[in-house]
Order: sequence, then C-alpha cells, then structure tokens
Amino acid sequence: MMRSSLGVVFSLSFFAASSLAQSTTCTLSDHVEYTRKIKEFTTESFFSTELVDHLPLSSCVPPPDVLLHHIVGAPDVLDYTKDINAYLRLLASKSPRVKVWSIGTSEEGREMLVVAVSDEANLAKLDRYKEITARLADPRGLSEAEAQKLIAEGKPIYWADGSIHSPETGAPEMLMELAYRLAVEDTPFIQKIRRDAIVLITPIVETDGHDRMVDIYMQHKKHPDQPPYPLIWWGHYVSHDNNRDNLGVSLALSRNMLKTFLDWHPTVMHDLHESVPYLYIMTGTGPYNAWLDPIVISEWQEMAYHEIEEMTKRGVIGVWTHGFYDGWAPNYLLSIANNHNSIGRFYETFGNGGADTRVRTLRPPDTSREWYRPNPPLAKVKWSARDNINMQESAILFGMNNLASNGQKFLNNFYLKSKRSVDKARTEGPAAWVFPSDDPRPAEQASLLNLLQLQGVEVHRLEKDLRLASPPGSQDAGVDKEKGREKSAEKSEAAAKSKEEKKLAETIIPAGSYIVRMDQPYSRLADMSLDTQFYSPRDPRSYDDTGWTLGALRNVKTTRVTDLSILSAAMQKMGKIDPPGSIDGQGKVFLIQHNTDNTLATLRFRLAGVAMEAAEDSFEADGIKFKAGSFIIRNADRAQLEKAAKDLGIKVRATNISLSVGTHPLAAPRIALVHNWQNTQNDGWFRISMDELKVPYTYFADTSLRETQNLREKFDVILIPPMGGGGPAGLSGMLRGLPLRGAPRPWKNSDETPNFVSPGLDSTDDIRGGLGYQGLANLERFVREGGLLIAVQTSASLPVAAGMTEMVNVSDAHNMQAPGSVVLSTIDDKRSPITYGYDDKLYIYFRQGPVITVGGNFGGGPEESGGSGRSSGRGTASDPDIIQARPYEPPEKPVKRTPREQELYIPEDLPDFARFAIPPKDQQPRVVLRFAAEKDLLLSGMITGGSEIAEKPAVVDVPHGKGHVVLFTNNPMWRGETSGSYFLVFNAILNFDHLDAGTTAAPPIK
Ligand SMILES: [Zn+2]
Repeated sequence: MMRSSLGVVFSLSFFAASSLAQSTTCTLSDHVEYTRKIKEFTTESFFSTELVDHLPLSSCVPPPDVLLHHIVGAPDVLDYTKDINAYLRLLASKSPRVKVWSIGTSEEGREMLVVAVSDEANLAKLDRYKEITARLADPRGLSEAEAQKLIAEGKPIYWADGSIHSPETGAPEMLMELAYRLAVEDTPFIQKIRRDAIVLITPIVETDGHDRMVDIYMQHKKHPDQPPYPLIWWGHYVSHDNNRDNLGVSLALSRNMLKTFLDWHPTVMHDLHESVPYLYIMTGTGPYNAWLDPIVISEWQEMAYHEIEEMTKRGVIGVWTHGFYDGWAPNYLLSIANNHNSIGRFYETFGNGGADTRVRTLRPPDTSREWYRPNPPLAKVKWSARDNINMQESAILFGMNNLASNGQKFLNNFYLKSKRSVDKARTEGPAAWVFPSDDPRPAEQASLLNLLQLQGVEVHRLEKDLRLASPPGSQDAGVDKEKGREKSAEKSEAAAKSKEEKKLAETIIPAGSYIVRMDQPYSRLADMSLDTQFYSPRDPRSYDDTGWTLGALRNVKTTRVTDLSILSAAMQKMGKIDPPGSIDGQGKVFLIQHNTDNTLATLRFRLAGVAMEAAEDSFEADGIKFKAGSFIIRNADRAQLEKAAKDLGIKVRATNISLSVGTHPLAAPRIALVHNWQNTQNDGWFRISMDELKVPYTYFADTSLRETQNLREKFDVILIPPMGGGGPAGLSGMLRGLPLRGAPRPWKNSDETPNFVSPGLDSTDDIRGGLGYQGLANLERFVREGGLLIAVQTSASLPVAAGMTEMVNVSDAHNMQAPGSVVLSTIDDKRSPITYGYDDKLYIYFRQGPVITVGGNFGGGPEESGGSGRSSGRGTASDPDIIQARPYEPPEKPVKRTPREQELYIPEDLPDFARFAIPPKDQQPRVVLRFAAEKDLLLSGMITGGSEIAEKPAVVDVPHGKGHVVLFTNNPMWRGETSGSYFLVFNAILNFDHLDAGTTAAPPIK
C-alpha cells in the first residue's frame, strides 16, 4: 500500500513547475472521489460534521491524495515525515495562501516544519503581524492607546501541532487535509478564519518516533501473521515523556517549538493527542497551575465549551471536557504557550494506534454520564482513522473560527496577561529572585540561568552590593526551609532588641549576584520554576509531578525577594552566562575544588588519559579549604588543562605544596547504560544528561547482559535506570522480557523498517527473552569480580532480590502517596566517595518508592510513642503499668538511637547462630544519603504518609565480593530537572573501585 517513494518523485516535479497563480483563475469543484471515500471510511454519521464530510477540488492547488495516493484517514496506511513534509511544501508552492519553513531538526536529523495558512494579503504582511504580537508580548513602554492600535491592526495566531506522541498517528494526516482545506475552501466559515486569523501548523512534533511508528505499522500490515513490534524508541530519547520537557528543555523538539513560539507569540497553541474516547477537550480537573493569570483559565473553559457546543449541536457524540488531566504541572508542550501568557490547549481523540478500523468496547468509566460529559461515548462502536480525523478537524476548525471571530478580544487578553506579568513584581510579587554571586556551584548556577534565558526570561547582574532591610515577611529563603525558619526566629528575637542590633537583620546581596526581575513579560514562568509548590492531598489525584522547584533540584541557591527596592538597584542585562574557568597560581600540582558542578565529570572524561586522584578528606592548600573528593592532578600538561578549565568553567589552583591528605585514583571507567526492549523512557533521561555532559557510555540491552558472560571484561560500571514497575511483578518483567515465543525478532534497519536504528540507539538479532536467569548470574559475577552496579528506583529490587545485598530490604510503600515531589535528604556518610562535594543537605526528586531499609532488624528500637506499644493495664500511655502481687519494677528506659545507630545495632545477647549471619563490617551496607525527618521532608509537591520513608535510607552502597551495588530510591536523573543530584551518580562512577574509602576511619557513632 505504501507509495511514498513514488510520491517524492512526484512532488519534486511539482516543485520544478511551481507557480503561484491561484484565486482569480482557479476554479473550485467537489473532489467527488475523495468525498465518496470520506463517507465510505466514516463509520457513523455522528462522527462527522458538514465541515469535513467532503473535500473541494481546486484546479490549481493539489489535494493530499495527489501526492499520497490515498485520502487522509484512509484505512491501513500511514505516511512518513518526508512525504508529509513534501506534501506541505507542494501545497505552499501551489497556493499563495500557504507558506512553509523549517523550524529545525530532530536528534536524528529529521526536519520539523511550520506551515502558515492565511489570506494572501495577510501572508504578505506576515512580518508585520509577527512584530505586533511581539510588541504585545512585551508591553513595557507601550501606552494603552498604542496597544489598542496594535490590537486593532493585529491578527490572532492559532498554532496547531500534531503527534508529539508517536503512536498517536492521526494528527499528521489530519493537518495535511486541514492545511489544504483552509487554503482552498470558499465557505464563509473558512474565509473568516483565513481573513481574520493566521493559522500555523506543525504536522509532526516528534519526527524520529513518527517514522519508526510508520515502519512498525506498515511492517505489521505486510506481515499480519507476525506480532507487531513494540515502539521501543518513541523518539530518540524519551517516549511519552517528550512532553514533560518544558522545565528542562533538553530535547531538540522542545527547543525548536520554544524558539518558534518566542518568534511568533501565537495566541493559541494546540497539541493534538489521542487516547480517551471520543474527543476530550482540555480544561482539566484542577488544581490549576497557581502562577498562571486567571484569565487563561477562563479562556480554556470558554474555548472548550464553544467547540463542545458546536459539535454537540451537530449531533456528534462523546465530546466532553474537565475529567482528564489536571492543569497543575507546567510540563506539557502546550505549556510553552501557557507559560508565556498565551493559551495552551489540547485534544485527546480516540486513537487506534495506527489506521485500523476496529470495533471498540468501552468500560463504564468511559461511558458514564457525568456533569462534564452529558453526552458520553457509546459502550461499543466501530471506530476508524477517518472518524478520528473528522473529530479532530471539525473541532479545531470551530476553535480557529472562534479565535478569528473574536480576534480583538483574544489579542487584548494576551496583551493584558503580558502587562499584568510585568506588573507582577509590584502587585502580587515577589519583586525578584536572586542567585547570589557566592554560590559554590557557578556552573550549575549558570546552567539554570541560561535555561531561564532560553525560555525568554531576562537575567540581570547586580553591579554593587545591595542592602535590603528585612522586616518580617519581606524576604523568604525560597529554597532552604530550615534557614528560613532560623531567620524568622532571628527576626522575632531581633524585634525585642535594640535598633542597632536590628540592623543585623538586613540582607546583603553581594555585587555580581544574578537577579531575575519579576517586572518582565515572563515573570510568571520564572516564578513558577523557582517557587515552591504545595499540592493539597484533598485535590484530585495529580496527573503528573506535583513539585519541581528548580533551584532545589539543581542544587542552586535562590532567594525570593519581596522588597521592591531591589528593582531600582543598578544592574546589567546579561547574555549567555559562561562561568569563568582558569588556572590560578604556579606549581606542578593542580587542585580542583569538588563542588558537584557536573562539568567536573565532563572534565574527568575529557582528560581520560590524565591521571587524577580524589582527596579522601578535606584539606587546606594555599589558604584555600578543599572538600573531600577534590580532584588532585600531578604533573599534567598545564596548557591542556587550562583549555579544558576555560571551556568548562572550572577553577583550578596550581601549587607546589606537598599534600598529606590521603588520596585514591579517580577513574574514567567504562560504563554500560542498560535498557530493555519494552520501554526506554527512563533510560532516555539518563542518556540525555550523560550525552549533554559528554560522559561516555555503552547503551547496552538487557538481552546483551544475558548473552555476555564476562561483563567485567567489558565494563567497570553497569547503570540500570528505573525499569518496570518495581516489586515482584516488575522483577518478573525484567527477567522475562518480551516472551520467547515464535521466531527471533531482530531490531535492525531493513527495507521494511528503514527507521528502526540510528546512531546512539541499539540493535539486536532478537529482542526477546529479557535479562533471564543467565543475565542475573552474569550481573552477580560482574559485581563479585569488582564491578559497580548502580540500580535506580524500581530497578533497586533486582540486586536485592537476587541476593547481592546482605542486610538490605526493599519494598513498595504501603500507605505513602508521593506523586513526584521535591524532598529533603541529608548526607549520612560524609566520607563516602558518593557524597564527595556535597553540603550537609540535598533536595532530591522522589516518586513513590521503593522503601529501603538496612540492618539486621534485631529490634531494640525506640518505643512507639503514644503508648500503642504497651499492653493493656493500669495507668496511661506514659504512666506505666504495675503487675500485681510482686514488687514493682520500673520499665527499662528506652534507649535513644539515631536511625543510623539503630540500623547497625546488634544486641549483646544475640544468639550465636544469628550473629553468624551478620556479614563482617566491610561487607555491610553503607547508608550514604538519608531522607529527612517527616516534618522536614517535603519542599514541593505532595506527600502523605511520609513517615514510611522519613529518616530511611535514600542511597545505599552495599559491598558484594570485590565490587559494589549502589541503590537509589530517588531518581537522580529525571527530565533534565535534577542536575543537583547527578553527581551522586558521577561520584559513584568515578570512584567505582574505591567506594570503600572512608570506611576505616568512619566518625564514631554518637
Ligand atoms: Zn499524547
């Protein structure tokens, strides 16, 4: 059925004959054959409207079937990116109402497009309209009269984008037909859109994954007897999570879309998704993102209800809103618009994971009548790709017509939202966010500030020290809660003291500090990214992460300042911020402070051939205090090191001092990053982080672990990102993998599957069989022979259940709800190489589990408070019982032990057989990072039942044979947001063969 190669040849001939004569000389008739097929492929009349039940035929402009050889929404066929792009280019070459341009390429080099459709006159003035939305987006210095003039002259812009999620295949097809229809159709309804709005279309957001999806779908159509392939890579890196990248902006598609948004300031940005039946129009259940202007909340509702009403009026069944998605996290593609004062929205239409026509049976939750779904979907229906096209295209046309009909109102709202964002500093506040110049992590600080600038946020630099009076409430420590508490305590004491002492409460912001002012157009985005989030457990279950405070997750200091005087301080607007790197001093020994800036990992691998050592303790040199873990390089090539230091923003101290601190070699080891053949989403975030930082690794399949007996020969470190759902079921899934049924299933490029593999991805002769028992045995041998196995989050149960970790237990949380939050942890073992460079505390990203406990569980812990531990008898919870008819013996005073002491506690009267089971000290688990006490645990998001993890291990290092297993309960590499915890992983990697450092002289237990 595929005729793509023919299509390309055809399109090229069209390019050659490009002529732009439309309107006057062109005639319009009904495209009879196309229209007949629309009717044929639509399964029920109530899945269509008069807007899409036909297609006009222009004598000048080719409809999609000319190039595709099938109508849009035809059964059993999908089109590749190059063919869809070719059609849209053809359309632009033939219609004066269409323009097309590239907005960049994907990771694998596929092109992303924007197609503009509007009247010829509007397209001729496209730059002017772009100028107008840009001016309204930044209304500083614009008078009300000028603004109203611009609004009257301007045109609202509606940007529709398709298929960010590769299995959701309808939109790229639909958007071709939509572009054609908008360009040629002559009904007043379409004319209105063309005349009074500008439509932008991006047919495919995730081009890499789209082409793989088309491979899979068409391959299966050719071989229906074989099971379909899983879509192993939806894109190059992350699967469904590619629309969870708005805070980290790590993906090419996010950068391309963001850049295009900031270029055009579309009034509406509309993502087209497929999942729930039949057409869900986004408003969300709430809680809505608390930093958005309330105007946009109304706009979501208004636009949704307009489309629901128009569709319902025409007898279309199953169009609804509200009961899906919340609207809280700013992390979806559409949030690019919401975060920048425009309107971001989406549809979910009913997909079929391709272009099949199938009978679909729905469950009661999808068909029940609800207040928000008075016209629910049917229990059973035949559903086709064309039905999906009809629903998407009809509804979005009503949306576009609504925008065109109310263009002045929507542009005025946009202007108003932008203006109120600038006013924010002086109305709701804060006045600014401060990034102090003395942050010990200049590279991470610069990285976060550059990220904000990429988002369109302005960053300034303070020219002189700034003194701010700090009356109560004027300033919060936005990140360090404990510090905040101390401060307010300080303040209340200070209130009682003399005026002079009161002066001490003033805050000095040092010169050179970076200021993110809240009187700028994208203040809300900056505030939302840096502020703390509180997600109430009373609210509906969250759709995604509940907390994301970027300063905390990136371990960068930020301060929320409400004192308006900061806005008048002398400051300079910054361009890209490059932290300075240099070598100071003279000498043959080079010292680099370990500050957990991730560029240190880059440096280690960049100079992999240069011998480096890690200091096992803190030390002083040339009057500078260096932390444990600091890098020591002897006899290096100064010029080479200086170049690296400059490129990476690293400060190096050269000295001739003789050092007495203990050291061990700092490795640049061979790393395997493991994936399976079912879902590569979580490993994708690890790959992005490591690729960005140029930390080399081999992308290695679970099946390869099974097939490689001597893993130690190939690798030093094996890193298993979160895989599966954890627990026994997750473990079973890891071991079994894809069922070993039928014939071997190669994952390789072929004539039928030309897009399966690209550089950076993996291939195999057979994707079946998972890790298997042999793979588990190979992993165990790898560790025993001196390798480091890092197992993250749900994968932590693998080495534990496999018996590689004595005195460690891993379980799922029973009552806790932690749906993606920012929590506090404390460094529990400052001498462990894994914690090198960190301060005492670290905020980490935590999602639901697992819960890890260590120790022999010999009891003897502190008594449960509230007396629930005591027997029935006389007295109260605290007033003890008295046994009758014998002398009273007071109960033993419970011994207070820290969590660490409790874990290591071995009762003196432990029977010999039990004592025999305790491994020697050097084989016992070492808790390196621990969750804070329950009251201090949550910074941002939501946790209920936090006592399940409070004061329990977060990161544990367990020796096994000559090697180590390191378990993470948190996810240290998540969505490009958690760079503050990356170095826990890098430390483990760089010190993989010296993780025992610091055990012998461990500080005495208090
Ligand atoms: Zn989707």
